Parts: sequence; structure tokens; C-alpha cells
Amino acid sequence: GLRDTAPSTIFDEIISGDIPADVVREDEHVLAFRDINPMAPVHVLIIPKDRAGLTSLRKATAEHTNILGRMLLAAGEIANDETLGFGDGARIVINDGPDGGQEVNHLHVHVLGGRKMGRTFG
Ligand code: 5GP
Repeated sequence: GLRDTAPSTIFDEIISGDIPADVVREDEHVLAFRDINPMAPVHVLIIPKDRAGLTSLRKATAEHTNILGRMLLAAGEIANDETLGFGDGARIVINDGPDGGQEVNHLHVHVLGGRKMGRTFG
């Protein structure tokens, strides 16, 4: 369901403004900001403002279709924004769960670029 009883994370503090972030894009539904520990010359995170139970993608159901679509559209638009430092393309990643390397339990999409990505996914 949409009810979210999961513990809050650092991303809730970024949404509330309690801790600062380098915001690159924002609308009513999603917030995008630079990763504090970038893994590429440009590394942006996209998060839903209302996590809506989405600690991870594996929790998604059909009722999250709208926010999931918005996050992917934002990823494409951000990756297409050369003023952010992207070239001709980007790597768009979701780490999901402990085995997927997820550390923050608030769904987020990574958009990495500014260099040519390799073929390894770690
Ligand atoms: P995960 O490993 O969960 O997919 O990615 C979490 C990401 O959040 C990591 O790349 C990490 O560097 C980033 N991150 C963690 N804490 C903060 C923070 O306080 N501010 C920003 N901008 N990024 C953060």
C-alpha cells in the first residue's frame, strides 16, 4: 500500500531541507541532487518526494506506476542536460536491496556520466 511506516532516511532530511543538497532539478513529485560521493564526473540522484512505501524498487506495485514513470522521465531529461556535465549518454542505475548495493532505503535512481562508461557493473 501507499502507507509508509518504514524508518526515515537521510533523503527525508534532504527533502525537508534539514540537510543541504546540491539540487539540480525539482518538481512537485521528484527531487534530483548531486551525489555527495560521486562515482563519475557527474552523478545525480533522483528521489520521489513522497516515498510512498518505496524503500526499494522491489516494493513497487501498480499504484506506483505514476511516480516510477516520473523518475525515469526525469532521469532521461537530466542525462540529456549538457549543462550538468553530461556528454552523449549516461549510465542510469538502481541499486536494490543489500545484495544490489543499496545503502539508503528510499528509492533512488542514479544518473552517472561525464565520461564513457565501461562494461562492468561491479
Ligand atoms: P545507494 O548505495 O543506496 O544506491 O546510493 C546511495 C547514494 O546516496 C550513495 O551514492 C551516496 O553517496 C549518496 N548519499 C548518501 N548520503 C548522502 C547525502 O547526505 N547527500 C548526498 N547528496 N548524497 C548522499
